[in-house]
Amino acid sequence: MMKIPFYIPYYTGEELQYIQEAMNKHQISGDGLYTDRITGLLEKKFQVKKAFMITSATHALEIATMLIDLQPGDEVIMPSFTFPSTANAVLLRGAKPVFCEIDENTLNIDPKKILEKITPKTKAIIPVHYAGIGCDMDKIMDIAKSHHLHVIEDAAQAVNAKYKDKYLGTWGDIGCYSFHGTKNFTSGEGGAILLNTNDESLIKKVEMIRQKGTNRNQFVRGEIDAYTWMNIGSSYVPSDILMAFLYAQLKGMDMIMMKRKKIHDYYCHHLKEYIDAGIIKTAEFSKDYQPNYHLFYLLFQEERIRDKVKQELMDRGIATAIHFMPLHSSPMGQRLGYVKEDLPITEKTSETLLRLPMYTSMSEKELDYVMGHLKSILKKIGEI
Ligand SMILES: *Cc1c(COP(=O)(O)O)cnc(C)c1O
Repeated sequence: MMKIPFYIPYYTGEELQYIQEAMNKHQISGDGLYTDRITGLLEKKFQVKKAFMITSATHALEIATMLIDLQPGDEVIMPSFTFPSTANAVLLRGAKPVFCEIDENTLNIDPKKILEKITPKTKAIIPVHYAGIGCDMDKIMDIAKSHHLHVIEDAAQAVNAKYKDKYLGTWGDIGCYSFHGTKNFTSGEGGAILLNTNDESLIKKVEMIRQKGTNRNQFVRGEIDAYTWMNIGSSYVPSDILMAFLYAQLKGMDMIMMKRKKIHDYYCHHLKEYIDAGIIKTAEFSKDYQPNYHLFYLLFQEERIRDKVKQELMDRGIATAIHFMPLHSSPMGQRLGYVKEDLPITEKTSETLLRLPMYTSMSEKELDYVMGHLKSILKKIGEI
């Protein structure tokens, strides 16, 4: 029996060399050589006004809610089908996450349902690009514009993915990326915040928030003689050792994405007959969407079937995962006053979704093993 892990990180092979260089140059704390290199790389490739490297996407989201000056009593619309970080960033400012239904085909926030959630207290929308497939950003930006709302993209899963020729994370006012160990391109822990603005005061504000509330960045640039405490802030700067590691990953960004596309295409091709027969569903997207192939999921008709398939795969040494436990019906969501029945599509999706193993180094032999067993299970699905 083969053992197929659900996920293993991928190394391009240049990571150690860059870490060694950071060490040789004594650049190991934050905002050193590699932070500069990566910031430049992200700004150029994604054509965004300003990027900052951050310790995680969770922290990038926290900075974003500080930047828009979110206050107690404010409301922020977001999907419930997301990771807790999206909502924590809002709660940490004393504001209220307003959970919105997703579209059952894209699993992304449904723009029509956003409209129903807008109240005079609404301050922002946080769309989440599930699986690295973009939300309907043009519709969301239109809604935000006409209601004077901020848009913070939780693009944690969507680095190097596009919607309509524009990179995800650069559509909204602010974009948040993750380089966590489970994401396509990684530094183990890490993130970035992207600012779609020419407003120098906002850029300065991020600089200070991430540098303990000081104007240290201005000091390092030689603009001032000494740095001091200017405002409220925290420590959100990643070590340059991590950024050296990440530089190797980001240089290989398109290569990594193409390897993942092959895995995605393999799954789609081999599962086509079951998708066409309506036994399973997976993500379908038009030319408007250029995903980064972050993950591959199947949707089954019932939770019972999903759980049985998961168990049978596990019995054959194949690890899979479910996603997401909806936030609105979690213990914390219930304390905020939500009940399970509030968002039926979100609930149903969470109950019936199964993520197949997907890692950049996955071999044809491993894929064949997964597919052979998956097909034999799907063939007898009527008996489950
Ligand atoms: C991974 C993820 C996060 C958190 O990213 P970190 O870098 O681990 O903080 C937030 N939101 C979504 C949608 C994610 O997938």
